[in-house]
Amino acid sequence: RQRGGAHAFKAFDPTLNQALVPDFYEADEEQIDAACRLAAAAFIPYSQRDLAVRARFLRQIGENIAALGDELIERAMQETALPRARIEGERGRTIGQLNLFADVVEQGAFQGAIIEPALPDRRPLPRPDLRQRQVALGPVAVFGASNFPLAFSVAGGDTASALAAGCPVVVKAHPAHPGTSELVARAISQAVLQSELPAGVFSMLHGTSVQSGSALVQHPAICAVGFTGSRQGGLALLQQAQQRPRPVPLYAEMSSINPMLLLPGALQQRAEKLAQGFIDSLTLGCGQFCTNPGVVLACEGEDFDRFVQHASNALRLKPSATMLTPAIADACEQHTAVLSALAGVERLANGQEKQGPNQGQPHLFTASARDFIQEPRMQNEVFGPVSLLVRCADQEEMFAALQALQGQLTITLHLEQQDQRLAASLLPLLEQRAGRILANGFPTGVDVGYAMVHGGPFPATSDSRTTSVGATAIQRFLRPVCYQDLPNALLPQSVQN
Ligand code: NAP
Repeated sequence: RQRGGAHAFKAFDPTLNQALVPDFYEADEEQIDAACRLAAAAFIPYSQRDLAVRARFLRQIGENIAALGDELIERAMQETALPRARIEGERGRTIGQLNLFADVVEQGAFQGAIIEPALPDRRPLPRPDLRQRQVALGPVAVFGASNFPLAFSVAGGDTASALAAGCPVVVKAHPAHPGTSELVARAISQAVLQSELPAGVFSMLHGTSVQSGSALVQHPAICAVGFTGSRQGGLALLQQAQQRPRPVPLYAEMSSINPMLLLPGALQQRAEKLAQGFIDSLTLGCGQFCTNPGVVLACEGEDFDRFVQHASNALRLKPSATMLTPAIADACEQHTAVLSALAGVERLANGQEKQGPNQGQPHLFTASARDFIQEPRMQNEVFGPVSLLVRCADQEEMFAALQALQGQLTITLHLEQQDQRLAASLLPLLEQRAGRILANGFPTGVDVGYAMVHGGPFPATSDSRTTSVGATAIQRFLRPVCYQDLPNALLPQSVQN
């Protein structure tokens, strides 16, 4: 909504390298305050409504998003340069995610009811009647991500899980796709009306400066924050969330290079196939996935040489592609230059030259495990189709390289039967380093279900105890309350007799 003197900005088409109509308006302090106050006022009425109403509301959002039809798909394609099939897939995933959380709400197990009946005859002291359940934290601020305009944005996993928990949501839309965000926000607001919920259950604010995000995180009404983006942004916001007069949890999903380990049997049996699968995964969506395989570790030898040769050849055939924003394309180029200039890093192959504005070019580098262990900057995420092949002298060195690894969203093992003993010896260390461990697959592609973990130790996230994808993401926005000796009629339904 335009207000006197509000800062106007436009969306940008990175393929055509030009601004798009119409104007959007950055939220001012007053609007940020109003959204947070409305969320606070909506909190108790919303969190106390029947779970059936909450579940229907989540499904209604999905239906309203589907009803936006091609207008949503085309706007998202324009604003992100992502192809139709990808955006359509993401819309399906976003709706599926909302429906999953509707199921979670209906099933009720997320309330974590624990009932310990009184033991009046216990000696030396009687035990009171104790009942625990999880309650909603309060209004949640959500930062839309640039790289998933639907599934990690306005109605994405953070919003769906917070609403499912019973928390009102205030979204800061990512300025890379304001039109897409606006359409989805209208779908949610319409669902709020259709479900006869208080208006403050959902608000969306536009912002193109760090000030608006900071004001949101620091607003006294906000009780938790969900963020997906850069390590720099996540850490800055984490500090702000912790330094508030009343600190609040901030769940930031930030940076990961998603190592792939090629064990000897797998390399021997299918070096060429592995190389092709790896390059396809690396260049998918121009490498703009948080689960992009940015590093590969294997023991040196003839089999690894075959892998390197095939991967290099496959990469040379891959075109450059338009990235999400000019800033992301610039950052990709800069971070690639920094990586390539590190001592011990050698260039193996480039993808095809850039043909248009804002493109990212695929690159493959190699380094020895010794250099990799000594140079932590080799582990900095290059957001784009860029990967480093790390040559280990032997299994001991591979183990040492794994020990030097920072926290990851995923680690992938490629193995055959004969590699199982080695894999078993690595597993305890892999569990320490990553939120998801895969065998014989590729990390891009995150299934949304009950067992999924999209999280991991720092710097993958700011809190390794949770996930931002899958049913258990709801736990981020809940906290336990114990009811001691409350009369049954006073107890919440989930912990009544
Ligand atoms: P970003 O710069 O971290 O921004 C994400 C959101 O956070 C934006 O809304 C941004 O606001 C806000 N923000 C960032 N820093 C802030 C601060 N200090 N205070 C308050 N708000 C702040 O991420 P991005 O724009 O998506 O992309 C930039 C880089 O992030 C990429 O080049 C890539 O390296 C990385 N990235 C990583 C992932 C991943 O999954 N690992 C995903 C996306 C991006 P404004 O834009 O309005 O300033």
